[in-house]
Amino acid sequence: RSKRRGRGQITVYSQEIAQEMKRATQLEQALRNAIIADEVDVHFQPIVSLKNDMVVGFEALARWCDPDLGYVSPAVFVPLAEERGFIDSLSETLLRKAAETALLWPKELFLSFNLSSAQLMDPMTSTNVLSIIQRAGLDPRRLELEITETAVMTDADVAQKIVTELRAAGVRISLDDFGTGQSSLGRLRDFSFDKVKVDRAFVSRISADRASEHIVKAIISMCEGLNLEVVAEGIEDFSEAMKLKSLGCGMGQGYFYGKPADSVTTLRYLAEKYHDTGAAASAAG
Ligand code: C2E
Ligand code: MG
Ligand code: MG
Ligand code: MG
Repeated sequence: RSKRRGRGQITVYSQEIAQEMKRATQLEQALRNAIIADEVDVHFQPIVSLKNDMVVGFEALARWCDPDLGYVSPAVFVPLAEERGFIDSLSETLLRKAAETALLWPKELFLSFNLSSAQLMDPMTSTNVLSIIQRAGLDPRRLELEITETAVMTDADVAQKIVTELRAAGVRISLDDFGTGQSSLGRLRDFSFDKVKVDRAFVSRISADRASEHIVKAIISMCEGLNLEVVAEGIEDFSEAMKLKSLGCGMGQGYFYGKPADSVTTLRYLAEKYHDTGAAASAAG
């Protein structure tokens, strides 16, 4: 009897796998078509200086809404594009669009763009990235690339070579989601980063939980010593912002300062914020 039940479970299980694979293939096809039809979009989330609440740049975040499948999270479709081997064409479309939009912003604002781990294993990535932004006309010194620790770990030599080439061209490198995954502090010393983005997991508990506060405090102090800039991710309310300011955190990002928004909304946001702060600064001076 137990044998029969076991076999039944295997049947159910393999049906689930088959269904999962079918859905992935359906997603893959829809995504490939969306890339060709230019239907994958980029949204932008402001990154602010916590010294004066001024916008200093935006992070580009991929957005895709399929007519049949509905909204699909980039946390789902980016890994799918990596697995199925077309992350390059997805990323190229996204970076081109993001760079073209960044040209419409004040020149002192940077564009932060996420690189996937597969791209950090491909020696052509630096050449590809630089030629995409060159064609768009974006100064490499306005570009930051966000990479994760997992990506750096997979093939550290190739990743280091890519990063060295990009930094030589003036591109800056951020370590994204810091504190999650298999963090190694040694990597902060050996790998050339410009910036560290403290993961939302710490920020979201910073008001409630002393341990998270101490961890963020230690990260900030360590980064100061290592001459790395720090961005706190996922700031959702006033008290989190205040706490981070009091800890001396340089930059912040999160719903409290602005949700990711399309390029038109982003321009409107800039027209308001940028004008206002500029006017306030000159009135004060
Ligand atoms: P990430 O790079 O760590 O991006 C931050 C994520 O946190 C974004 O989710 C953003 O919308 C969300 N977020 C920002 N502020 C807040 C907040 O205050 N509260 C909360 N709860 N969430 C906040 P999103 O857009 O869903 O992206 C998820 C992940 O997908 C990104 O994490 C990144 O790893 C990846 N991704 C997104 N766009 C791209 C892309 O163009 N290329 C690559 N390779 N990966 C991308
Ligand atoms: Mg990111
Ligand atoms: Mg992040
Ligand atoms: Mg994240």
